Amino acid sequence: MSVLVLGGAGYIGSHMVATLLAAKRDVVVVDNLLTGHRSSVPEGVPFYEVDIRDKAALTEVFEKENIDQVVHFAASSIVPESVEQPLKYFDNNVYGMINLLEVMLDFDVKQIVFSSTAATYGVAKENPIKETTPQNPINPYGESKLQMEHIMKWADQAYGLKWVALRYFNVAGAKADGSIGEDHPIETHLVPIILQTALGKREKIMMFGDDYNTPDGFNVRDYVHVMDLADAHVLALDYLAKGNDSNQFNLGSANGFSVKQMVEAARQATGKEIPAEIGPRRAGDPDSLVASSAKAREVLGWEPKYDDVKEIIRTAWNWLQKHPNGYEDR
Ligand code: UDP
Repeated sequence: MSVLVLGGAGYIGSHMVATLLAAKRDVVVVDNLLTGHRSSVPEGVPFYEVDIRDKAALTEVFEKENIDQVVHFAASSIVPESVEQPLKYFDNNVYGMINLLEVMLDFDVKQIVFSSTAATYGVAKENPIKETTPQNPINPYGESKLQMEHIMKWADQAYGLKWVALRYFNVAGAKADGSIGEDHPIETHLVPIILQTALGKREKIMMFGDDYNTPDGFNVRDYVHVMDLADAHVLALDYLAKGNDSNQFNLGSANGFSVKQMVEAARQATGKEIPAEIGPRRAGDPDSLVASSAKAREVLGWEPKYDDVKEIIRTAWNWLQKHPNGYEDR
């Protein structure tokens, strides 16, 4: 029996595949390679270049492979892009989810672990954010992921489909050996942008807004290591395999860092100067997103190994120094 990893050639998906293989699980990868990298998928792992919205092609994968659980990373995930192109997000994310669930149900596959997001909470009424904190997304990306959660909830009620939504906060870092890491065609995320600046590939980092309602005015996020995140997915798969009910968990560190603090931490981790400038706010950004992960720790037994943001940055720096141009497979 295999775990199907949708989006397994992407940043988080590739770390998931590595973690599953290390745990001796059988893995099948589906990715449309729009943002993923074929060369991040290890040799010997069955790979299908398929778009999640292509029902016939997805059906063929389920026909060929003996899939019993699904992990779903194959979604568009860039907040500012979603503000500019909301329909792209509802098409790829929401329609893609409906298509996937229909195919899963055709093959009686009823367990899915899903990448949800802190962006479903919007401007949260409490910090740290709990799973019970009301979800009021303020951008189309967060809205699309919330709709995906709701679709699974109703599919559970109607068809007994069991799901775990893992609501990630800000994912960063890379596998410790630097063999895989973050490489997006258009980079928008803070940590790789800071480190590309440290490497001299960018002149400076623009810090988006210094007038947020936070202690230093820069907006605050909760950074979690990608390998810790992958561990949580394996625990969630096991949780479903044991016959537990559908559930949601926040994955973060309960520690918030402002953009300015992240730049400072990266200066310390890399020993580089990293020029930074203050720019205008970016559309769709809440002031502060910090997770309480108490529930994931208690119910799933999740124990993140990286609790120091500098260590997270160091692993991303290791990957970037080894692969200054990323995977180079475009
Ligand atoms: N950010 C920034 N400059 C950049 C990229 C990001 O100041 O060049 C800020 C952004 O406003 C947010 C934080 O860094 O507060 C994290 O943004 P990212 O895009 O990495 O993740 P998001 O929180 O949008 O998922």
